[in-house]
Amino acid sequence: MISIYGSSGRLAALLIFTFVSVFVLCEYVIYYPVILRCSWPHIETVNSHLPLRALFLSDTHLLGAIKGHWLDKLRREWQMERAFQTSLWLLNPEIVFILGDVFDEGKWSSSQDWEDDVRRFKRIFRHPSDTELVVLIGNHDIGFHHEMTKQKLERFEQVFNVTSARILTIKGVNFLLVNSVALHGDHCPICQRVEKELHKLSLALNCSIQGEHHYDQCKNTESFAPAAPVLLQHYPLYRVSDAMCTGVDAAPLDERYQLFRERYDVISKNASKKLLWWFKPRLILSGHTHHGCEILHENLYPEISIPSFSWRNRNNPSFILGLPTAMETAELLFNHVVRYFSIPEDIVSDRGPQFISRVWKAFHSLLGVAISLSSGYHPQSNG
Ligand SMILES: [Zn+2]
Ligand SMILES: [Zn+2]
Repeated sequence: MISIYGSSGRLAALLIFTFVSVFVLCEYVIYYPVILRCSWPHIETVNSHLPLRALFLSDTHLLGAIKGHWLDKLRREWQMERAFQTSLWLLNPEIVFILGDVFDEGKWSSSQDWEDDVRRFKRIFRHPSDTELVVLIGNHDIGFHHEMTKQKLERFEQVFNVTSARILTIKGVNFLLVNSVALHGDHCPICQRVEKELHKLSLALNCSIQGEHHYDQCKNTESFAPAAPVLLQHYPLYRVSDAMCTGVDAAPLDERYQLFRERYDVISKNASKKLLWWFKPRLILSGHTHHGCEILHENLYPEISIPSFSWRNRNNPSFILGLPTAMETAELLFNHVVRYFSIPEDIVSDRGPQFISRVWKAFHSLLGVAISLSSGYHPQSNG
């Protein structure tokens, strides 16, 4: 009798041990070998500037109180937390950007639910003090344009210490952060304010690039690193559909040909054109579609849409690693720039004079050569 109890006891212990090991392996250890397969892209240092280790992710969609089932919430958030914390530990980025739709129900959550969402976000995305976390605004955070209110916008801006349009310069790299929900172009007070702010930033950046701070229009403008920015926003720039997208995480065939609606799936043609004219970004990074997409605008401006980082949206949540460096080309050009400013006809519309140099185009094609942000997709396991 004793031996029977003994052997069944051992069997039970073995079963429990196996179960616990499998659980720990699948829920905790698995993230290490998977994320270890990702590494920072290798770049030739084109100048003396050290690259910035930047991790970009998007559409985390933390589930809310209304539509999120507690078990689903528990599971997805645990996976996200482990994936993010392991990435931080193994890759040690200096900065992390989350390109909007941080929450699923920020657009309609009560203040109590909002506080709960924020508390969980802060836990999942906790980070050491030498890693900066920058969050952008998405339509699920404050609502689509017609749902967006001053109050929802302000509570988001306060918690994440962001504004709807700003340039953040780190290690000589300008990141232009835009609230793309406010690019509706309907002259609503929020859109007007954001557009005005963007125009001001483009003037200041243009002045900085051209070293024109003595020029009348440039007096009293803020100065930035003299380089084209990396544009970051939630909505992608205008594209007809995902049909032209390349990249490993591009939308599946049945979704690729679905036509995008301006202002809902992508920003409007007009807003895209303005951003490109005003800022001549060296790279655009966006989210919102939940699929990857690599696409070139006007044969000059590369955009990468980043797939969602939530298991609820896709089976292989992804993030992107980038090593942007400061560019010196602008400094070299500085002496040769023709000091002449003009306004391209098709951008003027009714917003008053804009300040765009004719030399921009030639200037940017030179700047474009120095693009050094390389990237790679890093699909993770199906947790
Ligand atoms: Zn989303
Ligand atoms: Zn979105």
